[in-house]
Amino acid sequence: MIRLPCPWCGARNVDEFAWHGEVAVRPDPASATRERWRAYLYLRDNPFGWVRETWYHRMGCERWLVVERHTGTGEVRTCVDGGERARPRRTDRADDGPATPAGPREVPT
Ligand SMILES: [Zn+2]
Repeated sequence: MIRLPCPWCGARNVDEFAWHGEVAVRPDPASATRERWRAYLYLRDNPFGWVRETWYHRMGCERWLVVERHTGTGEVRTCVDGGERARPRRTDRADDGPATPAGPREVPT
């Protein structure tokens, strides 16, 4: 079983997360060729070894995370917040204003 150490929720079973693939640098829309966009959208290296991946904590904080994981063993080296909150929590009401989690915490890996 793989457990991801979410910086907001603590270590959780991987079933709570959605995998979104290797971290890839988005090309510049103004100058990227069709082939470059195709490669960005569909082609991945899928290496054996340590890879930086994007995960979404769909059953927790609903934040994007960047996880450094070994594809052979499933070992997780780091798990950090990936940026902006993807969407408000389902339990938030419009009159509550934006959801603001307490903040990331130290999680042993
Ligand atoms: Zn989380």
